[in-house]
Amino acid sequence: MNDPLESQRGGTEKRPRQVFELDETGFNEVPPRYRRFYRRWKGTADSLAPNEVKCPVCKVVIRSRVELRAGDRVYCMPCMSRLEVIEENGELVAKVLY
Ligand SMILES: [Zn+2]
Repeated sequence: MNDPLESQRGGTEKRPRQVFELDETGFNEVPPRYRRFYRRWKGTADSLAPNEVKCPVCKVVIRSRVELRAGDRVYCMPCMSRLEVIEENGELVAKVLY
């Protein structure tokens, strides 16, 4: 796995996706090489970047190298959930697929 983003179904890709540099987050619930793809949610003072979405199951923040869009599918390694990114009240949220 090179990125939690498994398929880029979102958007019509008219606008190129923003690319992000991911650095180590200290998230130690996954093997070291996957750590930069996840981080802990820090509570109400925290906010999500355009390449981040919160897992509704384990509340971990999933981070992709590219901007996420509604329709994308992402994988949450800490709880092994497959999620679909949807838009809700103008925000991107993840919904469990199975
Ligand atoms: Zn999860």
